[in-house]
Amino acid sequence: MREAAALAVPYEDIIKKLAYGYGTAYYGPIPPSLPGFNAELSKPLPYDLQKAKALIAESGLPTPIKPEVMIQEGDPTQAQLATVVQNTWKQIGIDLSGKVAPAAEFQELSQGHKVQSLMRLDGPGVFETGHCWGYDLICGISFNLSDICLKDTAPLITEMRASSDPARRGQRIALEGDVPSPIDPPSGCVFRTRCRHALAACATAVPPLVEVGPGHAKACIREDIP
Ligand code: SF4
Repeated sequence: MREAAALAVPYEDIIKKLAYGYGTAYYGPIPPSLPGFNAELSKPLPYDLQKAKALIAESGLPTPIKPEVMIQEGDPTQAQLATVVQNTWKQIGIDLSGKVAPAAEFQELSQGHKVQSLMRLDGPGVFETGHCWGYDLICGISFNLSDICLKDTAPLITEMRASSDPARRGQRIALEGDVPSPIDPPSGCVFRTRCRHALAACATAVPPLVEVGPGHAKACIREDIP
């Protein structure tokens, strides 16, 4: 029965359509990014509805089998995953239903092992930005269970992690004023309603974009501001 259910999950489709192509299919409890992963022992099961149906018939269980899976409220990916599995399992005689639980109930039931089956997306258990940036998107570390590795973004991620430092956050300039309407932008420099350096002249003409250094350009009438 377990093998039949696993054979009827379209893992490659899920990676392509729900994970935007980022992911590696495997079978077993150890993900590819962790030490101890054995590619030979963890080959993904093929998607095989015929074999799945045959195994269900062989099990002798009366169909439809009616399991329930718990989904955390407000998590669209869990709901999409459940829908994909629901559709394919239906074809082998498993009628999956979903129970949507608020986050607190979901956590209590899942952490307390009080529910038999649930959708779970592994990933950072904290929502502090700096921690997350050092967790799921760094190439080549064991915690990168998202399986996303964009080498060119590594320096940018490092910079973003630094900018989550409270001391550096305090140096940020909080913009004031209204965000201009894109269908009725202000005259002259479109940034002038929020710019703390604006002069009356900023309303008269759109400043041209001028190169001021290698790879650095600015569109501002003020020569005294770098
Ligand atoms: S031209 Fe420069 S100073 Fe004037 S509003 Fe725009 S950014 Fe500010």
